[in-house]
Amino acid sequence: MTYDFDLIVIGAGSGGVRCARIAAGHGAKVAIIEKQHWGGTCVNIGCVPKKLMMFASTFGDLVEDSHGYGWDTQKGHHHWQQLIQAKDKEINRLNEIYVSMLQKAGVTIFRGAASFKDAHTINIAQSVLSEDNAQGLLNITAKHIVIATGSSPSILDVEGKEHAITSDQAFYLKERPQRVSIVGSGYIGIEFAGIFAGLGSQVDLVYRQPLPLRGFDQDMRQALHDAIAARSGITQHTGRSPVKVSKDGNVYQLHLDNGEVIETDCVFFATGRHPNIEGLGLENAQIEITKKKQIIVNDDFVTSASNVYAIGDVIDKINLTPVAIAQGHALADRLFAGKVRKSAYDATPKAVFFYPPLASVGLSEEEAEQKGEVEIYISQFTSMKYVFTERKIKTYIKMIVDKASQNVVGLHMLGDDAPEIMQGFAVAIAAGLTKSDFDQTIGIHPSSAEELVTLRQVTRTSQKS
Ligand code: NDP
Repeated sequence: MTYDFDLIVIGAGSGGVRCARIAAGHGAKVAIIEKQHWGGTCVNIGCVPKKLMMFASTFGDLVEDSHGYGWDTQKGHHHWQQLIQAKDKEINRLNEIYVSMLQKAGVTIFRGAASFKDAHTINIAQSVLSEDNAQGLLNITAKHIVIATGSSPSILDVEGKEHAITSDQAFYLKERPQRVSIVGSGYIGIEFAGIFAGLGSQVDLVYRQPLPLRGFDQDMRQALHDAIAARSGITQHTGRSPVKVSKDGNVYQLHLDNGEVIETDCVFFATGRHPNIEGLGLENAQIEITKKKQIIVNDDFVTSASNVYAIGDVIDKINLTPVAIAQGHALADRLFAGKVRKSAYDATPKAVFFYPPLASVGLSEEEAEQKGEVEIYISQFTSMKYVFTERKIKTYIKMIVDKASQNVVGLHMLGDDAPEIMQGFAVAIAAGLTKSDFDQTIGIHPSSAEELVTLRQVTRTSQKS
């Protein structure tokens, strides 16, 4: 059987692009199909614009912090349109870089919506191909096909849901809403609450748990809750869910399950994401999905069709950009170079870009104590930067050590630069280092990070009761 390509990748997001480029580098004949965003969610409507907007949101407070250090700078007014234009320009630049990287790697690029005709044949609708599509080719075939179509924000099914926006629209708002009601306390809800508050909006953050970030370490959730409470401009409505959204002129009302009604200029649902499988024709290739519509794969990312693979947010694994990239790379290495590329998925570091940010690697205390007795080290302090400032941002550090082996199995930090610091310490957790390895490490002084290698006193021991 001969095919047009060795590999077709559907979706040019982080995972798909990495897979296509590495496969092409191994000598495979590769095509990639993308219908909208070159670089996917991360580059266009996710990590990258979010981080730029997060940076923007921090300057106002830093100006005020500077007064304690002798500066007489004034905070002034933030110009939303200027930020959005600068962000869009940067994203256009990145889009072009992604396309040119693929072309330089020798990958054939198709623009259009892909769907399976069968397990080896992809139909491309409305494809506008560069030179390769000169003959209006609509069906292409490949020996191997990778689905890397990512995910999209989910909207809660409540009355008036059409009035709500998601993160997809939040990046393109014409004006910054003066009042924003955000539903959900996962990554997106927390990060956007920080962004809008930092830029001057009044934020109502509504979530159904007593603490934000379900799934993270309980103490860290409490520390984040307290940090949100200490941050001006955000009101937390805990233990609440929305039941209805209504609109009156330009004003919206978010109705909660306790009868409370929040008046606002923007209702923003940050209530999870769902895999992008609609229109892919998965049934034509007998590709099976879970009840949550995630594509089912084995440890090698093989779907129920043996020549079709899936990676990234479309499968039931950790939904983070670096994980999708690692999966795409490993798959390309395995298929076209016969190499096994390992990643320490158990030690995947996570960061929530609030101010202060929270970052974690390894197990929470609740997860660790399921496995045996653990020693918990906790350190809380106000970092030196805030000695002269009016606001006092607290740093909270937590280390979880397996008592029997003395392996450090979890590290968590809420505080300035936590993601940068925890990225380095993730190596130690992935390598399975012990508390004494940490103790032998010399600190950098003065820094907040040195605290991680100078934790002396066990705060408590804990074990599943
Ligand atoms: P999350 O799954 O992180 O959070 C969803 C939030 O919505 C939770 O607070 C959840 O509550 C709430 N929710 C869900 N369903 C309902 C409901 N029916 N009624 C009321 N509340 C509800 O999703 P996000 O949208 O924040 O982010 C999606 C994913 O994107 C993340 O999981 C992450 O993988 C990725 N991401 C990563 C980032 C990073 O690395 N910094 C940044 C942004 C996104 P409950 O907890 O009770 O279920």
